[in-house]
Amino acid sequence: MNTYGARSTTIVGGDGPYLVDDHGRRYLDAISGIAVCGLGYSHPVVTKALCNQAQTLVHCSNLYVIEPQQKLGAALIELSGMDKVFFGNSGAEANEAAIKIARKYAKAKNINSPEIITAKNSFHGRTMATLSATGNSKVQEGFSPPVEGFVHVEYNSIAAIEAAASSHTVAVMVEPVQGEGGVRIPAKNYLQKLRQLCDANGWLFILDEIQTGNGRTGTYFAYQSADILPDVVTTAKGLGNGVPIGACLARGTAAHVLQPGNHGSTFGGNPLACATALAVLGELNTPDLLAHVRAHGERILMRLKEGLKRVSGVVDIRGAGLMIGIELEKECTALVEQAKEHQLFINVTSGNVVRLLPPFILTDEQADTIADKVVMLIKHFLN
Ligand SMILES: *Cc1c(COP(=O)(O)O)cnc(C)c1O
Repeated sequence: MNTYGARSTTIVGGDGPYLVDDHGRRYLDAISGIAVCGLGYSHPVVTKALCNQAQTLVHCSNLYVIEPQQKLGAALIELSGMDKVFFGNSGAEANEAAIKIARKYAKAKNINSPEIITAKNSFHGRTMATLSATGNSKVQEGFSPPVEGFVHVEYNSIAAIEAAASSHTVAVMVEPVQGEGGVRIPAKNYLQKLRQLCDANGWLFILDEIQTGNGRTGTYFAYQSADILPDVVTTAKGLGNGVPIGACLARGTAAHVLQPGNHGSTFGGNPLACATALAVLGELNTPDLLAHVRAHGERILMRLKEGLKRVSGVVDIRGAGLMIGIELEKECTALVEQAKEHQLFINVTSGNVVRLLPPFILTDEQADTIADKVVMLIKHFLN
């Protein structure tokens, strides 16, 4: 079906930060398959784990104990500070689990029509519940009626949440940095204040780290740099470096809400995805790699700021680790094709924000190439 419109490039392979098309042209991929392949393409450790598991056991259903699933769960729980995990196959599914936890948690508190407060300009997925949670009318257009029970408020505003709260409120769900919404970075203490607000009211604090998680912002989860713990955190994209897998982690009361019969997934947590994600996690969750993400994020950001200073039409240049946005005054989706002509893949989101989500394994030279090409393209575009 025509869900992604016409596409002009056929990709047949990839290695490191490069993708290769059917004519053998190599592109530096500054979006990593939309924040998925942090370790780049054809990473030997990932490929080996995938091949080994494929030769051992691909699937056996969740009616049995699956060792790679247990190991991955234990590793994620250890590093996240959460107590329990549910595995699905995508970001939207991870968020569906989080939403179901919030609703069942509400029932235990005798809240019969629970409301979850989410942010305007957010993105939480394309299933009916997650598109209803999403604060973007374009995502919802054509699919009414939405799933009820979501209230959308201004992002980065505690006052807006306080104003929208009611006796029906059961949870607050936000992204630590809004990704699809244009790499919007909230005030430094936003997550801490949200934590306090949720504590004061007995609400679940749900963080959607589907894009920000797995090292993208320079810590394994973005909330770790804010020194707080959410009650529920969802992740997916970078978790399997391209093997479909999503996770919903929870702690405290929220970890024990779902009981046998409440939720499930045929493929979720299957041996193939879990063994691969475990190998990915082993590579990602090291001080060196996370420091590399922070250093290269900073490097690209500085070079963009230097190259684009005094260029009129550039509204803002911002970043958190290797999640970088350049906001322009005008709509700029044409830049995607122009970058492609220079063998660079970039993304434009929110219409006027150039978004870079480069792989974590960039060399200094590759990082500079991305920044220099983007500067050149934007200057030319705004001229
Ligand atoms: C991509 C994304 C999702 C949806 O993930 P899918 O795997 O496409 O279902 C949800 N939330 C955020 C923040 C995302 O970036």
